[in-house]
Amino acid sequence: MSATQARITAVDTYDIRFPTSRELDGSDAMNPDPDYSAAYVVLRTSAGGHEGHGFTFTIGRGNDVQVAAVDALSQHVVGRPVVELCADPGTLYRDLIGDSQLRWLGPEKGVMHMAVGAVVNAAWDLAAKRAGKPLWRFLADADPAWLVSQVDFRYLTDALTPDEALALLREGKQGADDRAADLLRRGYPAYTTSPGWLGYSDEKLTRLARKAVAEGFTQIKLKVGADLADDVRRCRAARLAVGPDIRMALDANQRWNVAEAVEWTKALAEFDPYWIEEPTSPDDVLGHATIRRGVHPVKVATGEHVHNRVVFKQLLQAGALDVLQLDAARVAGVNENLAVLLLAAKFGVPVCPHAGGVGLCELVQHLSMFDYVALTGTTEDRAIEYVDHLHQHFVDPVTISDGHYRAPTSPGFSAEMHRAGIDTYRYPDGRFWTADATPGEPGTDKEGHA
Ligand SMILES: [Mg+2]
Repeated sequence: MSATQARITAVDTYDIRFPTSRELDGSDAMNPDPDYSAAYVVLRTSAGGHEGHGFTFTIGRGNDVQVAAVDALSQHVVGRPVVELCADPGTLYRDLIGDSQLRWLGPEKGVMHMAVGAVVNAAWDLAAKRAGKPLWRFLADADPAWLVSQVDFRYLTDALTPDEALALLREGKQGADDRAADLLRRGYPAYTTSPGWLGYSDEKLTRLARKAVAEGFTQIKLKVGADLADDVRRCRAARLAVGPDIRMALDANQRWNVAEAVEWTKALAEFDPYWIEEPTSPDDVLGHATIRRGVHPVKVATGEHVHNRVVFKQLLQAGALDVLQLDAARVAGVNENLAVLLLAAKFGVPVCPHAGGVGLCELVQHLSMFDYVALTGTTEDRAIEYVDHLHQHFVDPVTISDGHYRAPTSPGFSAEMHRAGIDTYRYPDGRFWTADATPGEPGTDKEGHA
């Protein structure tokens, strides 16, 4: 079969769960025991060679529901010509969010929308691989008019029109080659959340905070919001450990009511927090605006649980956030995140993406790098979250040096996982989970070693 006739032959899905809750990795005020998980998707083709890999992230129970949502979309994908899909992933995106029966489950939010994101991201992975470029470069090299064609402007035009988006992208092309060279040389700034999980002891927090500074990070993040006396003690210990010049962000993971968020943040102000993240419900646009006014000069950051481009639009219109934290796998994939990046650029709000989990660092680095090279042209006050868990399961894992993400050079979206990891952690029949369920069998540690 010739390459031009090649089609998508299957959408294979996998429920992959890592037992991270056993080490309290990832613990915060609302999520005390996450098992970091991926609803993982492989687009198989009749072309041979490249496949498209994508996933969305969950924290354990319900990952089977997420996989079922991806499976429900496969009828829209199987049979598509590969060349057409890769030339225009936007058509796939529109067909997936436009399935009128599945749309009832959202619309454009939650499990179904995340499933769309997993499939759409897999299509972009395939497109970038076939072009022989890492996704950030694939996007940065693209014609601005084509990028605009990939964005769904429905519900956005009161804040951002296609003409405005085109102007932003054309301006972003100026000097892009120099910035791409700079990116390859320096990388993209990162900050680390690894010291600050709520379940860690003060000793572990202090040790990891010092280590982060020694490794070149200029910003760390601490989880807060469960107990104020604990937060005061932990913030004091962290500030002492890192000194006055390191940015220290705080993350409440949606714990508070609006007034409580203002009071609690003010009670921690003496430790000079840089931002307060997810202070309240991610749906509460006006609440975030009130909190922002109340905690100034501490910044307000949110986005990892923001459903879609429409809510981001409102947060920006309402002046409700200082830092926009898009997530590569929460919304409907690259197409919708292009819209979010363009909105942030229009409003002049820096994007500091959410990452961590399983593979979120691997994915989202490409979006920030594209933004730097060919949209906003700056990394000022921008940094990608970094958490040092589970990267070993990826074929093209992120590389951090001197507090920066190194720019990926392998073709694709860095989404592909090693076969051995999939076989070990597939739930419930992977080797780790079957051994774990067997009485008398010794468990294995979080890395799968006995
Ligand atoms: Mg967070």
